[in-house]
Formats: sequence, C-alpha cells, structure tokens
Amino acid sequence: MTAAVDSRLAMLGGPRSVPRGRRIPAWPRVTPDDEAAVLRSLRSGAFTAAAAGEEEIPALEREWAQYVGTEHALAVSNGTAALSLALAAAGVRPGDEVVVPALSFVASGIAPLHIGAIPVFADIDPETFNADAARVAAALTPRTRAVVVVHLHGLPADMDEILALTRPLGIPVVEDAAQAHGATYRGARVGSLGLVNSFSLNVSKNLATCGEGGLVNTDDPDVHRRALALRQFGEVIESDKPRQYVSHTMGWNHKPSAPQCAFTRSQLSRFPDEAAARDANVRTFLARLRDLPGLLVPSAPDDRTHAWHILRFRLAPEAFGLPAGMAGPLRAAVVRAMRAEGVPASTYQHLPLPAQPVFRRPPTTVGYPPDALRAVQGWSPDDTPATCRVIESSFVIQKAHLHPDAQPLLDLYAQAVRKVWEEPDVLVRYARDLPYRAPWEQTDEAPW
Ligand SMILES: *Cc1c(COP(=O)(O)O)cnc(C)c1O
Repeated sequence: MTAAVDSRLAMLGGPRSVPRGRRIPAWPRVTPDDEAAVLRSLRSGAFTAAAAGEEEIPALEREWAQYVGTEHALAVSNGTAALSLALAAAGVRPGDEVVVPALSFVASGIAPLHIGAIPVFADIDPETFNADAARVAAALTPRTRAVVVVHLHGLPADMDEILALTRPLGIPVVEDAAQAHGATYRGARVGSLGLVNSFSLNVSKNLATCGEGGLVNTDDPDVHRRALALRQFGEVIESDKPRQYVSHTMGWNHKPSAPQCAFTRSQLSRFPDEAAARDANVRTFLARLRDLPGLLVPSAPDDRTHAWHILRFRLAPEAFGLPAGMAGPLRAAVVRAMRAEGVPASTYQHLPLPAQPVFRRPPTTVGYPPDALRAVQGWSPDDTPATCRVIESSFVIQKAHLHPDAQPLLDLYAQAVRKVWEEPDVLVRYARDLPYRAPWEQTDEAPW
C-alpha cells in the first residue's frame, strides 16, 4: 500500500514544492574567464579612468556603445550617478522639472533631485507598468526640461509615442534602462532611443559588475563631452593631452574602477547567450502559468523584447469571487502561500514614488533642493491611481530566474504556483481574515 500524497498547501502544514535547501543559482555568475579578466586588470596597475595607459574602461565603453548601437558610452560609478549625470548632460538645471514614472526604483526620482531638479511623477499603464505618452503629457508643464522613461522590469516603454510628444516641444527624453539591458524596441536596443541614457551595473541587474557601476549612452558628441566632464570634477578631458586640473563646472567624481570594468567586459562577452537562455527559460515558465484564472503573467508586445529583469504578476480578484478592493489582501495571501511552498515571491515597490517620504517631507530631508519644495506638497492615491492599483494587486519574482541554468528551479516554481492555485478557497479565506491597510496608509516616522 502506498501512502496518500499529501497535497495540502505548505502554509497549512503540507510539504513544500521547492525542497528546503534548494539554492537559487548565484547571480551574477562568476566564471574562470571573469576571474582572469579581473586579474589581468590588477596586474596592469592602471585602476581608474584617470590612469595613464588605462585600457579596461575605454574598452568597455567601446564594446557597450557598439552593443547598444550608440556613438558613445561612458562608464560611471553606479546607475543613479549615470542618471543624474545624463540629466545634467541633457541640460537639466536646478529648478527645472523632470517627468518621472510613478512606479520605478526610487533612484529614478532621486537622480533629478541630486541636480536640484524637481521630479514630477506620471502615472503608469497598469498593463505594461510603464508610463505612456498620455500620462507623460498630463505631467508636462512649461518648466519641464526632460522626461525620464524607465523600461520597468525590462519591458521597453512606448518610445515612439513618447518621442512624438516631446520632440516638437524640444524636451529631451532620457532612458533609465537600468532594468532593461539588451531589450529591443522596434529593432533598436534600449539605451539608443533617448538623447542620453543610463544603465546600472549593480550586482542585481541583468548585466553586472562585481559591485557598483553604471553606463551612459548617447549619439550626441556635445552631450558626451559634457558627461565626460561631469564624471571628473568638471574638467575637460582629452585623452591625448596631460591633465589640466581645471574645473569648468560642478562635476562629480563618478569614475568607475578598472577591475570592475574588466569584470563587466567579460560578462558582456557572453551576455547575448545568457540573455537568450534566460528568455527561453522565462517563456517556458510563464507558458506553464498563463492558463491560471486570475493570474496575469508578464508579456511583451510583438514589436519589442523583454529583458525579464523582474517578473511581475498581477492578480484579478474577480476571478476569486472577490471585489476589486480586495486585491491587497489577496496578494498577501498568495505571497504567503507561495513563500511557504519555497517560491521567493515578494512585494517589491511598496509605494508609488511620490508617496516615498523623500518626496513628501522635504524640510526634514538632508540635501533637498529648496526650490523643489513646491513640487512635493501632498500626494494622494488619486494622483496615481494606476500605480496604486498595480502595487496592491501584484507580486514579483526577482533574481532567481536570472541565471541561465535556472530552468529546473523555475519548473519547481511553476509546480508550486499551480499547487497554490488548486486551493482558491484557502487564499480567499486568508484574504478575508487579514487585517489590511494599503502600504501608503501605514504611518511611518521619519528618522530625519
Ligand atoms: C537599479 C536601478 C537604478 C539605480 O542603479 P544603481 O546602480 O543601483 O544606482 C536606477 N533606476 C532603476 C530603474 C533601477 O532599477
């Protein structure tokens, strides 16, 4: 006689779908080639962008510019620096307004602040999670000097529609492509579509360095020249001339380090293969979930490719017999059930950017440009209804799917999700019993 299979959810005491101790393959993947590249750089003795004979940094810049399809690329210290530097190089000045999508990583909104500009938040399309032309248009004012387009989670935004809006107005678009390395829009790579565009090389991203790093891409020689100066104390940098040590503008020190660029060059050499493997793995995973009622899996329109940096799933409470207002509790139930099964589901991005304390309490925030006070007086959920809806009704899987060998793990995750979906009554009961407040209704005390 065989024992009956215990099909109870793990949250109710049943066995986990993903065995305990089953590890997520480490990301970024570090190969002997990567180690050799870093060692080569260490042995060269040239460690920074300012060092004579430095080769790794300009080589990464050439290779990345070629990959993205721009004339120029500049390596910098991180993705937030890349974005503020790109905005400054695009001509944004203190007091100018910069349109930023309301759903993004907080750096998209902080980067304008770092140059004294005022982020003005645009709501998003609840299907794509990106700002679209109509919502960007609603955020424009006579003081708008740039539009930041984030390709959130790896899906390119509607660039043609947004450019058709901004071009006649002479407003530059700056792509924040930190989550979308290699994604294409109508045949062009993201990072080649705006005037000047930024990437992150943080360890969490699809293309990483062994620490912190960023990249800035542009076709415009003047913008590139300004970005180069802003990277190094506002100096005019001419590689064939001795350094002058004269600062012409308030630049930063946003230079990258050479061993890290060597590491990323090595990563970049196999990036297309790893991105293709990830694409195949994620598509297989999503195809196994697409039929589940009330679960909306991420997808990409035919005219663009998705970099699958983060997988964001939306829930439709109606499919569970719940009113739309129960999305938040339902999400909490699903995340709880999935985590118990061993799937690292989470609720990344708890707040719309304009609800972040940094944008709501300027007087108590260190380094806040005084002129920005007027932009942050009050935010209510009605200002960004789609962003709020998406946040309350979605959960994400991050990192676990990035490694090219993630397929077996994703197979277990798919089994886990399907198992959870066998028990909608359990989820509904949990959701109904949960004391719940929207994330932005939870009071927090400012540490500043
Ligand atoms: C990660 C990220 C950034 C910031 O990059 P860092 O290298 O961490 O500074 C900016 N924008 C978005 C959308 C990001 O995901």
